[in-house]
Amino acid sequence: MSGFDFDLFVIGGGSGGVRAARMAAQRGARVALAEALGTEGLGGTCVNLGCIPKKLYSYAAHYREAFAEARGYGWACTEPRLDWATLKAQRAREIGRLNGIYDQLLRNAGVTVMHGWARLEDPHTIHLATLHADGSPGHQRWRAERILIATGGTPHVPHFQGREHVITSNDVFDLEPFPQRLLVVGGGYIACELASIFNGLGSRVTQLYRGEQILRGFDDEVRHFLADEMRKHGVDLRLQSGVVCIQRQADGLHVELEDGNTLVVDAALYATGRVPNVAGLGLEAVGVAQGAQGAIVVDANYRTNVPSIYALGDVTARVQLTPVALGEAMHLVDHLFGPAAGKAARRMDYELIPTAVFTHPNVATVGLTEAQARERGYDVAIYRTDFRPLKHTLSGSTERTLMKLVVDRRSDRVLGLHMVGAEAGEIVQGFAVALKAGATKAVFDATVGIHPTAAEEFVTLR
Ligand code: FAD
Ligand code: NDP
Repeated sequence: MSGFDFDLFVIGGGSGGVRAARMAAQRGARVALAEALGTEGLGGTCVNLGCIPKKLYSYAAHYREAFAEARGYGWACTEPRLDWATLKAQRAREIGRLNGIYDQLLRNAGVTVMHGWARLEDPHTIHLATLHADGSPGHQRWRAERILIATGGTPHVPHFQGREHVITSNDVFDLEPFPQRLLVVGGGYIACELASIFNGLGSRVTQLYRGEQILRGFDDEVRHFLADEMRKHGVDLRLQSGVVCIQRQADGLHVELEDGNTLVVDAALYATGRVPNVAGLGLEAVGVAQGAQGAIVVDANYRTNVPSIYALGDVTARVQLTPVALGEAMHLVDHLFGPAAGKAARRMDYELIPTAVFTHPNVATVGLTEAQARERGYDVAIYRTDFRPLKHTLSGSTERTLMKLVVDRRSDRVLGLHMVGAEAGEIVQGFAVALKAGATKAVFDATVGIHPTAAEEFVTLR
């Protein structure tokens, strides 16, 4: 027996932490996992405050469009009315169920699940601040051969006068009352998704973005196309705009804008990026190297400069996506404890990570944007189409779909695939396999379409 209580102590019960703990325990390691928020925190940001509640609310928002569009197909519908309290309660019920599943999965795998705030005391010692059953504070000390930090990230709000009045994505899913007038600041994933979703749920949404076009880093044509579609759907999207200060008055929040105008809203949501969750972890005391905004610096196997300490997921501020945190966790476990019997060791591959933005309509993408391909010196051929989907010929909706392929003329390889349109995430997931397999445009051309679908356009682009 080693002198340690555990072979691996995981700090953080989110996407990366749960996956690493569960897989390591399945390999026979003695594993503990500490989650600061108790069972209710299991699943982390994705389950509690991110992917899942966001997607459920996106589905809710789509129903409003569906009711309106059904009329074109002969359905007589009365004006739908959202019961916000029911939506929130249904979401909470489902998330409670998922928290329970995570708890069960961990325990079934043999992981010791602990509730409390973990802090490093030295390269092998974790201090856990807990609460006794009567609510009084307690603490424990554990020794582990290896420690994995998977504490995720937290919203970042810039400093300005009136900052105390704003909310973030952490607050928005349980907002009370429903915001009839909502300001969204930011132009990234979260701002665009939540602007779309609350617009769909019935809020009057104003979205302010400081730059020239939303979704920096995505294909330029996608960004412009989505901005037009979001405006058509009703979002008052204002570019090169910002907030000077916010005051609370009797009729709502008075937001003074950089252009001199004032906006009165019920809630102001800041979605201006996320920073690694590192405060109070004891990193400085143990000498764990940190980069910009405190992100933990790791090597190709997620090891920090302190040999017994590892980190992955959002706390390393690389690609902040749940499947990436999961992939990193599986890479780490295979690296530390060996792969599952008969399997090769998995490695996280950061090439060709597909991603979707659940705006209305969705954006989804895999591979290089047109600009990136040109910057990398490829001789690029572009194939694109935008069209009104068949569904909307009767629905009355003016929503359009964009599809685009970025192809290397020399090798004929498809370097990038981009879509704005209904179910883009579902469609692009499948095409991501093709790109990962190195598909050429000729392979796309040789693929028979499924008719009538929107997705078939990707194999008929000429
Ligand atoms: P997290 O899931 O954040 O988990 C960290 C956990 O550590 C938390 O539960 C926290 O309570 C705990 N913790 C922190 N400090 C301590 C401590 N000292 N002691 C004990 N416990 C601690 N990604 C997608 O792929 N698709 C999406 O659609 C998507 N939508 C999103 C929507 C929103 C609004 C947000 C905010 C994020 C979204 N993401 C999405 C990103 C995704 O949620 C994250 O990339 C993912 O959750 C990162 O996992 P993680 O394990 O690194 O950290
Ligand atoms: P992003 O980094 O995507 O976007 C932040 C936005 O805020 C950018 O538009 C940025 O502008 C703007 N911004 C930053 N600082 C300021 C400031 N001081 N004042 C005004 N605007 C500012 O972060 P998000 O918070 O939207 O999301 C964090 C991450 O979570 C994402 O990057 C993604 O990885 C993940 N996520 C994934 C989702 C998915 O998979 N569907 C959904 C939600 C989140 P600029 O572009 O000019 O820097």
